[in-house]
Amino acid sequence: MNPFSTLGIRHDIVNAIAELGFENPTPIQEQSIPVLLSGSNDFVGLAQTGTGKTAAFGLPLLELLDFEENYPQALILCPTRELCLQITSDIKNYAKNMDNVNVVAVYGGANISDQLRQIKRGVQIVVATPGRMLDIINRKAIDFTKVQYVVLDEADEMLNMGFQEDIDSILSTTPDDKKTWLFSATMPTEVRRIAKKYMTDPFELTMGTKNTGNVNIEHEYYIVKARDKYAAFKRIVDFNPEIFGIVFCRTKIETQEIAESLMKDGYNADALHGDLSQQQRDKVMKRYRDRSLQLLIATDVAARGIDVNDVTHVINYSLPDEIENYTHRSGRTGRAGKTGISIAIINSKELGKIRHIERTIGKQFTKAEIPSGFDVCEKQLFALIHKVHNVEVNEAQIEQYIPRIMEEFKDLDKEQIIKRFASLEFNSFLEYYSKAPDLNISADDRGFDRERGERSDRGSRGNAGYTRLFMNLGSVDDFTRGDMLGFICNNTKISGKSVGKIDLKGVFTFFEVEDSEVNKVIEGFKSVDFQGRSVRIEMAGDRDSDRGGSGGGYRGNSSRREGGGYRGGNSGGGRREGGSGGGFRDFSGKRREDRGGGFSGGGRREGGDRRRRL
Ligand code: AMP
Repeated sequence: MNPFSTLGIRHDIVNAIAELGFENPTPIQEQSIPVLLSGSNDFVGLAQTGTGKTAAFGLPLLELLDFEENYPQALILCPTRELCLQITSDIKNYAKNMDNVNVVAVYGGANISDQLRQIKRGVQIVVATPGRMLDIINRKAIDFTKVQYVVLDEADEMLNMGFQEDIDSILSTTPDDKKTWLFSATMPTEVRRIAKKYMTDPFELTMGTKNTGNVNIEHEYYIVKARDKYAAFKRIVDFNPEIFGIVFCRTKIETQEIAESLMKDGYNADALHGDLSQQQRDKVMKRYRDRSLQLLIATDVAARGIDVNDVTHVINYSLPDEIENYTHRSGRTGRAGKTGISIAIINSKELGKIRHIERTIGKQFTKAEIPSGFDVCEKQLFALIHKVHNVEVNEAQIEQYIPRIMEEFKDLDKEQIIKRFASLEFNSFLEYYSKAPDLNISADDRGFDRERGERSDRGSRGNAGYTRLFMNLGSVDDFTRGDMLGFICNNTKISGKSVGKIDLKGVFTFFEVEDSEVNKVIEGFKSVDFQGRSVRIEMAGDRDSDRGGSGGGYRGNSSRREGGGYRGGNSGGGRREGGSGGGFRDFSGKRREDRGGGFSGGGRREGGDRRRRL
């Protein structure tokens, strides 16, 4: 008998999930499904993302609700739009052999009328983010008086995001005798408090130890000098040719800058952060899910609820301020029983944070060494050899050229031919990495601290008497420097002479204004909209110092990137003649058709030279 049937799941659902590859229940499913199927308990499940918790509550709901009736019977609240869509689509998939199952996704940033229409048509399961749900409740467009089950998914995330009051208001519209099922990756006191407030004697299930990271995840840290951070990061990526990773930064600016630098250096990367429009974010996420992107550079907030399987590495380019966030970040890998690696690139001052995280997650980090240039070359060489060995040969197409190729090679034996093929890439790797320095630093290297202490971002970037400001509009919004100067002066009534350097970036701009005019600029832009988006001005200096020097670090490396790092030997010249990187391939070796470029900088880069990364 199918193990899901043994748990009490009906045939048509078992068949549907079998098609999704669910052969055996995950531990949380095994333990929670029988309890939830009874329909008589409140429930608290302490489980990481990626453990199969959607099915753990989704399958029992499909068993318990009455789908001959068309009113809301279950409400699932979750923190993000991405997770909301994911849960909705998962439940629809589980129910694909059932009749009249209506699930609606209710989330912000999308047309509300469509959602209202779907609700009006009749629905049994509502999956919602709290803000939009409350909006719909306030419009009296939904009736929750007959709701039997409320699921609070990723409760800790919802509280982190400040949804406590919204959740209170939403739950007050549901009946007292409903059952509440709460899932959370961590159990801070706030979550404990809502469990207490909304539940009576809940059945509690803890997968693993409280607040413990997933056992399938290895944790590593690398200690580097701040100025070497970007180079070290690239080397880690180069050492893992098959990486499919999420890279976490602390600020939107850092996220955007790292992504842009990586793209310039020919890496298959893009940014995900809150300054992108929903449409831009969707596009980036789609490319990541489809594996057209190898590295997703993200802020914590933007990456919440991202549910992509097979992420091999999570890289903490900057450690999070909140230790809890480390658990959320690392939980993006090691999903569905797979293994994953969570990496932190730190400076020696941050060792204390690593120890703190170790205590919190109950797991030790391994101190890893930044690979040497030689190690990277060797790794890349064998990745290439492996690829050559496994490449699918298109016999029909290649056949016609074989006689000429044989003719070319007739003076070479097999070993010589292999050496030549291998050298084609290897020579270029060696050339790029021939003088690569050792980027490791010992934890007690005091020179490092002195050096960091002496360096001042503000001093190295800004002119005396001027303050550097950040604005969330840039060249992708079709601004030239002249336009930007006009835009600033018109909105703030300051003179053009008070504006210093304007550094127009993709989706944002840094500009300098005389210190005495800073307040005018901040005030002037307070309620300015540009094409429906609020214009945001911030002190760049504050943000720069947030980055712990990382920005300075990678900029400082630009000389090392000269020549764009590695311009792939055999992928050079000829194959790039298409301009937009004719030779660019995604890491699975398929030619990438998608030239859209994901985030809105794509168009701008279209004509650019997409180098193969090393
Ligand atoms: P979740 O924690 O619900 O986000 O699930 C994480 C991933 O595991 C999703 O991609 C699910 O499709 C997958 N999954 C959930 N349950 C099972 C199962 N019993 N067998 C195989 N994969 C599963």
